[in-house]
Formats: sequence, structure tokens, C-alpha cells
Amino acid sequence: MASASTTITSSFLSTPSSLTEKPSSFNQTLSLGFKPRHSISVSASAAPSPPPSYDLNAFKFAPIKESIVAREMTRRYMTDMVTHADTDVVIVGAGSAGLSCAYELSKNPNVKIAIIEQSVSPGGGAWLGGQLFSAMVVRKPAHHFLDELEIEYDEQDDYVVITHAALFTSTIMSKLLARPNVRLFNAVAAEDCEE
Ligand SMILES: Cc1cc2nc3c(=O)[nH]c(=O)nc-3n(C[C@H](O)[C@H](O)[C@H](O)COP(=O)(O)OP(=O)(O)OC[C@H]3O[C@@H](n4cnc5c(N)ncnc54)[C@H](O)[C@@H]3O)c2cc1C
Repeated sequence: MASASTTITSSFLSTPSSLTEKPSSFNQTLSLGFKPRHSISVSASAAPSPPPSYDLNAFKFAPIKESIVAREMTRRYMTDMVTHADTDVVIVGAGSAGLSCAYELSKNPNVKIAIIEQSVSPGGGAWLGGQLFSAMVVRKPAHHFLDELEIEYDEQDDYVVITHAALFTSTIMSKLLARPNVRLFNAVAAEDCEE
């Protein structure tokens, strides 16, 4: 099995030119009224903290107006569209190929990437390993990419096995979409237009 003792933060620490540097276009985004994202530092080696205790009988959602929800979503989406109308790379398809491509390219924080996915659910076919079974078989040396993503696998001779393909897809997607230079537009299809 791959080492489970590495910290979750290490993949970002190993990323060239720290992702904390925000390209100027994102400053523009922030000036449109968004608060910066919370930065989360998680270490797998730290002792797990006890889950917060909730009194479910007293639990009450704070009230919110539908117009606030609508404005929040619309403003963010449209701002993403406006900022990424001028983009460096457009990737069509958020399957395993598109996600891996975006992951590599987005290591350079100055490269702006828009991913277009026609389905509501990104991930393509890689939510299963093959033949509708769960495990994903990965030929070496592609396991180095799994090491970088900190995805655990079972070691075999010339290949490795991830217990469920969804572990690959969910991990790469969460790490990729946390990068400030990447935006995913799902439920959007790219079409060939002949003039
Ligand atoms: C039953 C089954 C078994 C399989 N077994 C194996 C196996 O054993 N080994 C193996 O390597 N592969 C297997 N595959 C194939 C597996 O799905 C692919 O290897 C893998 O998903 C390919 O990734 P991809 O990113 O190239 O394509 P996909 O995962 O298909 O991703 C393409 C993405 O592009 C999106 N898209 C397409 N057109 C557009 C458009 N015009 N605009 C916007 N978005 C678009 C799609 O919605 C999709 O999300 C199997 C597939 C099936 C269905």
C-alpha cells in the first residue's frame, strides 16, 4: 500500500510557485464582492479532533431569502464566465483524461484553465474501474501520479490497484477544483460550429 502517513498538505507544498500566489485576474474576481476562500490546513498525522456535538433538537437553519441565494449563485457564475471568456486553455470533457490534463497544466498558477463538461456530473466513465466493476487497475509507471495525488493502492508486479475508481476521480477532482486558476463549467456542452 502507498504510505498513508504523508500529510494532506504536502501535495500543495510540492506544487511549483505556491498556489497561494493569486494571478491578477483573480484579484479582479475578489474585487467584485467575493470574500477570499478560507484556507484549510489539514494534517493526517495530527490526532483527530472529536466531532462537534450538535443538539439536533435545537438545530435550526438561519433564515435566508431566495433572492440572496439567487444573487450569490448568479454573480459568482457570471463572474467566472466573464473572467474565463479570456482563458489560456479550454479542456472539453471532465473525464479522467480531461481532469488529469487540467491537473498537470494548472500546476502553473499563471495558466488559466476552463473545463467544459456537458454532464451535470463531472468525472466521465472513471467512477467505475472497468467492465462495471469497482477496482481500478493502473499500469506502472502511472502509479507515480497516484503517489502525487496521495491515493492509496495495492501494489502488484507491473501494476497497482485502487480499491474503487471513485477514489481516484473524487480525489483528483477535489484537488483540481481547489486551485484558483481552474474553473469547471458543467452542464455546458462544446459544439462544433461551421460558418
Ligand atoms: C462498461 C465500461 C467498461 C470500461 N472498462 C475500461 C477498462 O477496463 N479500462 C479502461 O481503460 N477503460 C475502460 N472503460 C472506459 C473508461 O470509461 C475510459 O477509460 C475513461 O473513462 C476514459 O476517460 P476519458 O476522459 O478519455 O473519457 P470519458 O471518461 O468518457 O470522459 C469524457 C467526458 O467528456 C464529456 N464530453 C463529451 N463530449 C463533450 C462535449 N461536446 N462538450 C462537453 N463535454 C463533453 C463527457 O460527458 C465525459 O464526461 C470502460 C467504460 C465502460 C463504459
